[in-house]
Amino acid sequence: MEITAITARTALVRSKIPGVDYVINPYLGCGHGCRYCYAVFMRKYSRQHQQAPWGTFVEVKVNLPEVLRAELRRKKRPGRALLSSVCDPYQPVEGKYRLTRQCLEILGEYGWGIDILTRSPLVCRDLDILTGLPEVTVGFSIPTDDDRVRKILEPHAPPIGARIAALKKLHDAGLHPWVFIAPMLPMNPARLHELISPYVSRVMLDPLNYRGQVRGLFHSLGWDYALTDAYASETWETLSRLFGNKAH
Ligand code: SF4
Repeated sequence: MEITAITARTALVRSKIPGVDYVINPYLGCGHGCRYCYAVFMRKYSRQHQQAPWGTFVEVKVNLPEVLRAELRRKKRPGRALLSSVCDPYQPVEGKYRLTRQCLEILGEYGWGIDILTRSPLVCRDLDILTGLPEVTVGFSIPTDDDRVRKILEPHAPPIGARIAALKKLHDAGLHPWVFIAPMLPMNPARLHELISPYVSRVMLDPLNYRGQVRGLFHSLGWDYALTDAYASETWETLSRLFGNKAH
C-alpha cells in the first residue's frame, strides 16, 4: 500500500444524496480495495495514481481538519454531512491519521448533523465522540453474510463477523446503527437477517449496478447467477420481507 500526504483545497462537497447537504472524503483512494468499488473513477483526481490499481494507494488529505474548520466558520447555519461517499472514512490509515475523528470533533463543535458509512469496526474507537453528538447516524456496509465471498470481493475490508461485533457494540452504546446491504453479493439472505437484525434500527437495500467490473471474476467462480436481474430482485424481495418495516 502506497500512502502519500496531499493537501485539500476544500473539505465540504455539495451532495445530491437525499437528506445529506455535503460529503467529506478525508482520503483519496481506499485501502479496502473492493473489487466492485464504484469509486474507482476518483483516480482521475489523483496527481500520482491515475494508473494505479484501486486499493493499492491512499492519499491522505493532511490539512483537511483546518480546511473544514475554515469552511464551517463561513457557513450561516449548520447542515448535515456524510463521511464518506468515495472512500471508507475508517479504512486502515485512519488508525494513524485520525482525520475522520478530527472532522467529527469539528462538525460537532459547529452543531452539524453527521452520517457515517463504513465497513470498519475502527468506528468504535470514536464512541466517546459519537455518543456525545445529538445528530449522528452510523451505517455499516454488509453486502453478504459469507466471509468467503467477502475475502474475494472485499479483500482488505474487515471480516463480516468483525462488522457484526462492531454493530452490536454501537447498538449497546445506544447509537441505533443501520446497515447498507448493497450490492446484492452472493449471500444467504435468511442468515444475513439472523446475524444483523438484533442490532439494527433499519436496513437500506440497493442492488446497485456493479456488473461491468466483476463479470469475468464472477464467471470464473461460477457466480454468473448473482449478476442477473432475477437474483437481484429475488434477494431484494426476500430481504424486504424478512426485515419488514425496517427495510428501506
Ligand atoms: S470500502 Fe467503499 S470506497 Fe472503499 S474500496 Fe470498498 S466500496 Fe470502495
